[in-house]
Amino acid sequence: MSAEPTGRQALLQVENLSMRFERARGFLRRARSIVRAVDDVSFTLHHGETLALVGESGCGKTTLGRCIARAIEPSSGRVIFRGKDLLQMSPAELKRARQRIRLVFQDPFSSLNPRMSLLQIVGEPLLINRRVKDRAELREKVAELLRQAHLDPAYMNRYPHAFSGGQRQRIAIARALALEPEIVIADEPVSALDVSVQAQILNLLKELQSMRDLSYLFIAHNLAVVRYQSDRVAVMYLGKIVEISTRDEIFDNPRHPYTALLLASSPNPDPRARKADIDILGEVPDPAQRPGGCSFHPRCPFARQICREITPELRESTTSSAPHRVACHLEEELDLSAFLAEASIQPLPPNPPPHCNGEGG
Ligand code: SF4
Repeated sequence: MSAEPTGRQALLQVENLSMRFERARGFLRRARSIVRAVDDVSFTLHHGETLALVGESGCGKTTLGRCIARAIEPSSGRVIFRGKDLLQMSPAELKRARQRIRLVFQDPFSSLNPRMSLLQIVGEPLLINRRVKDRAELREKVAELLRQAHLDPAYMNRYPHAFSGGQRQRIAIARALALEPEIVIADEPVSALDVSVQAQILNLLKELQSMRDLSYLFIAHNLAVVRYQSDRVAVMYLGKIVEISTRDEIFDNPRHPYTALLLASSPNPDPRARKADIDILGEVPDPAQRPGGCSFHPRCPFARQICREITPELRESTTSSAPHRVACHLEEELDLSAFLAEASIQPLPPNPPPHCNGEGG
């Protein structure tokens, strides 16, 4: 069974996308390491859905989002949008495609130019792309975009400093919608905001999605937010997708140990609902010193010898009734529900250095 939802058409297909870059290291900075920030990632985004990308800091989810929008150039792979590969498009084609795929950034304080008014910020894409014929039409369109973002158009001559964090994120959303995109890549859109306004922004994104038939690639690390917002979830670790399925499958029936540990270690406001007190052992390894085999094995409480030697493929789960892909050698035999009920976990010690396959020497 495919890990894709039924009844929705594919809008964007990411195929074997990788992003590698060189990094200087050593005392004299003469040695070079290859960092694989995104490593052979494939998935499909469908019309009208929200696909969440989750994982710890440094797992590559932001880099992946920016590669898809071509805010940075990926090293290899394909990003098929409306039948064409974004990575092979001419400048003119790419310019048109970028109007349909927009980014919303995490920090609304740094993403808005403080010297520009709301009218200039939201209207700039309309002017650059010649979507308005005169100033009157510009004001009219900006006013409508502000209204859709639940901002008062009377404020369009004010500057960002006059607005709260939540209002600034609404301004950023209004700007992202100016060119009528089909896909919005929202990179941690609420994590810089007060908890009290996070729900308002999430609800606004949902409202705009149903109003405009938008598809979201929703990058986040807060699992409560992801559960609320997403239709499907892809879990990333060290640049790779290790598990992808529907939201309910990921939260109720995780099949990858990393996903289970992420769920177990995320804060739960109700201590009685917490089954176990589990933390993920250690830190995310340096992507330039990626462990061999399954890259999660130094932190995995189930790791066996095969995990240290062979990289597991992302393949269809044989134990889930829903569409569900997992990259774990032991997916068929692990009982992660029982694992999550255990309070004391003793992971294997990290693999010794000879098993690492860090590239670039
Ligand atoms: Fe853990 Fe092995 Fe599965 Fe990797 S392949 S997640 S190390 S059990």
